[in-house]
Amino acid sequence: MDFTVLTIFPEMFAPLRESILKRAGEAGHISVRLVNFREYAVSKHKNVDDVPFGGGSGMVLKPEPIYAAVRDLPPAEGRRKILLMTPQGKLFNQEMGKKLARADELVILCGHYEGYDERIRSLADEEISIGDYVLTGGELAAMVIIDAVSRHLPGVLGKADSSVDDSLTEGLLEYPQYTRPPDFEGMRVPDILLSGHHANIQRWRRKEAIRRTFLRRPDLSLTAKFCSADYELLEE
Ligand code: SAM
Repeated sequence: MDFTVLTIFPEMFAPLRESILKRAGEAGHISVRLVNFREYAVSKHKNVDDVPFGGGSGMVLKPEPIYAAVRDLPPAEGRRKILLMTPQGKLFNQEMGKKLARADELVILCGHYEGYDERIRSLADEEISIGDYVLTGGELAAMVIIDAVSRHLPGVLGKADSSVDDSLTEGLLEYPQYTRPPDFEGMRVPDILLSGHHANIQRWRRKEAIRRTFLRRPDLSLTAKFCSADYELLEE
């Protein structure tokens, strides 16, 4: 997957050069290209923003530099999607991340200041919000999308970090996890996880995932996928 990010703060993307995403980049599973659209500003002072028509506070991103940066992208080699980061967009979730992972290239537009000149929106295939709060810029949102989408790409997670049981993958929260030691300051790992009985462990995990989802996120349980065996589990 190729990610192309249009931003005026490319230095903010340093965290992508760490850990799992760093390895994914080195292995060629993802690439992240940062385009500073200030370079496309035509004015002497390379302005990318201006005061809003009609008055009001703050500055608005001008259309010309962003249009020029998008028009200067190399021809798409596969399925390209242009995403615009905005608190006015569709709320991002795990399912959307999975769908976006089917594209070959994601171009992510990061806003700043008071936001975009409205005409910039027509460049986007999708407008995305990462939550009901307002950030100072789209860079953190873009990194959230890159991280969450990358987890769905083949090869990005090693076996040890599989996403199959991740919270929300099947609409449920993940079951409780434990590692050594089996007894830490009197807090014991449930006996079943030490039993070596694989089928019983699977049943326990499924039951705990359902229980946890009902208790913490009852809203999710309305759309989670359950099977008839789940009802038997809950009756035990
Ligand atoms: N005045 C704008 C509005 O009410 O829609 C908000 C502008 S915000 C201060 C600056 C930029 O941060 C936005 O253009 C967007 O790129 C980014 N941003 C802020 N909150 C976001 C969110 N929840 N999700 C995605 N991007 C966000």
